[in-house]
Amino acid sequence: MRILLTNDDGVSARGLVALAERLRDVGEVIVVAPERQQSATSHSATLHKPIRVHPAHVAEGVTAYACSGTPSDCVALGLANLAPGPVNLIVAGINHGRNLGMDVTYSGTAMAALEGCIKGVPSFAISVGPTEGKATQELEVEAAVEFAQWLCLWLAAHPLPPGIFLNVNVPALPPDQIRGLMVTRLGRLRYEDTLERRLDPWGRPYFWRGLLLKEQKEEADTDEYALDHDFISVTPLRADLTATAVFAELNQLNLAQQWAQRRTT
Ligand code: MN
Repeated sequence: MRILLTNDDGVSARGLVALAERLRDVGEVIVVAPERQQSATSHSATLHKPIRVHPAHVAEGVTAYACSGTPSDCVALGLANLAPGPVNLIVAGINHGRNLGMDVTYSGTAMAALEGCIKGVPSFAISVGPTEGKATQELEVEAAVEFAQWLCLWLAAHPLPPGIFLNVNVPALPPDQIRGLMVTRLGRLRYEDTLERRLDPWGRPYFWRGLLLKEQKEEADTDEYALDHDFISVTPLRADLTATAVFAELNQLNLAQQWAQRRTT
C-alpha cells in the first residue's frame, strides 16, 4: 500500500511524525506537508505565486517533502508529481486539535482529505483533542496513531463509495481510556467569532480574529458528543455539497420556467 501523508500543522508537527513512524508498518509512506503552520487554510489552492518544495526529514525510511503551499496544494503536488505511481490512500493529520461540526469547513486537515477524495483517492482526516492547556509535545496521540493504522487496513478491505471521505476525531486519552467508536454526523458551529479592534503603535486600527467556544448541548449522534464522551468519532463526508432534497424541490417548483416567464406575468 502507498500512502500519501499530509497535515496542516506543518512538516515538523508531532502528530505527523508519530503517524509517519507508525504507517511505515502498513506500507510505503510519502509525506508532503506544509513547511509551516497552515491551520484554518481550508481547501485553498496557491495559484498566483510559485510553490517551493524541499526534501525534509520526518521519520527513518519515509520520503518527505516540505512545501510552501497549503495542505490542498500538498495533496495535489503529491499525486501529480512527488509520489509518482499509484497512491492507494491519503491520510491528513494527526491534527493538533479537534475538527468538529462546521469547523471542518475551515480545517486544512479535513480539506486535504477532501482534495484527495476529489482526485479519486480514498482519504481520511484524523485529529486529536481537546488540546487545551497541553503543549504539543505532551499531546496524547497514541490512540489516534493506533486507530489510523487500523483504519488504513480496514479501508483497504472496505473501500468508501466514490465522492465520500472520512473525518476522524480521537480523544486525547491513553488508548485504554477510549470507550469505543461512534459513527457520527457533523454537529453545529462550535465557536463565536471574536474580532477585537486594536490600535497599532501608529494609532491605526487593526483587527485580531479569534474564537470563543460556545457552550451548547449536542445531540447524541454528533461528532462533538462522541468526543465529549471519550469515543472515537468517524464522520463520513461527501465532496458534493449539493442539497439533493432541495434540488428536487426547486425543480418541482419550476424555478427555471418561472424565471423565464418573469416578464409576462
Ligand atoms: Mn491544524
